[in-house]
Amino acid sequence: MITRFAPSPTGPLHLGHAFSALLAHDMARAADGMFLLRIEDIDQSRARPEWERQIFADLKWLGLDWPKPVMRQSDRLGVYHDALQQLWQRGLLYPCHCTRRDIAAALSAPQEGVDPAIGPDGPVYPGTCRPTGGTSGDLPKDAVLRLNMARVLEVIGSAKLAFAEQGQGPEGQTGTIALSHAEAVQGIGDIVLSRRDMGTSYHLSVVLDDTAQGITHVVRGQDLFEATKIHILLQRLLDLPTPTYHHHRLIRDENGKRLAKRDDARAIARFRDDGATPDDIRRMVGL
Ligand code: GLU
Repeated sequence: MITRFAPSPTGPLHLGHAFSALLAHDMARAADGMFLLRIEDIDQSRARPEWERQIFADLKWLGLDWPKPVMRQSDRLGVYHDALQQLWQRGLLYPCHCTRRDIAAALSAPQEGVDPAIGPDGPVYPGTCRPTGGTSGDLPKDAVLRLNMARVLEVIGSAKLAFAEQGQGPEGQTGTIALSHAEAVQGIGDIVLSRRDMGTSYHLSVVLDDTAQGITHVVRGQDLFEATKIHILLQRLLDLPTPTYHHHRLIRDENGKRLAKRDDARAIARFRDDGATPDDIRRMVGL
């Protein structure tokens, strides 16, 4: 078993991160496997070296260890570009020039009638920039690239899309989780696969990186359960293996709100400075 913890160095790790990292680590150790770390720093406008250093320090203090050097997404932009190039040549991507406001306006147009579905990345894209014919020429630079979901499903054909859930989704989903073509079109739609100024996206990078690291079990929060449906689609398209998924409960504050990066009060470093021990942290997250 190979598990991983994949934080973004954009703020302090809080109790929710501690739970995720400890669980992934404990599962690998119990199976005599390996726990890996990956730094998800494709958003260079928000990633900071000092947060990365703090992540290493917090995880070490919690008693975790991992093989070095760690994988860092900012070192892998060429890998992401090659995958985009391949998808572009297969006619599965198109450039999109819509602003958020354009999308909101298209979705609220009276002729649409029904409320827009909300997918893993927000409102399902109304298709404004989707080409009717094929795309040609070189992979556009510095453009937002969307996945043409209808074409993707043509390519996938009748093959079943599913993943094994060992934990639970937010509504208790477990076991084999299937994704129908209708749900892919109506509930996910033409998601962004490459952001301007980033040259990739969370979804594309995460599937390529999980494969490159040989991850067999993806352990992460239930907030990413729906995103997994995108990940299994991309794995199928790019001929990558689908790991087993283990989505875990989220750590909430006393009002039931999910912890966020700005929740400094629950930062691991804060608890440590206040005299907590790593075992106290384990108890606080229910491990
Ligand atoms: N980097 C993501 C985050 O910090 C986690 C990605 C994942 O576990 O797939 O929320």
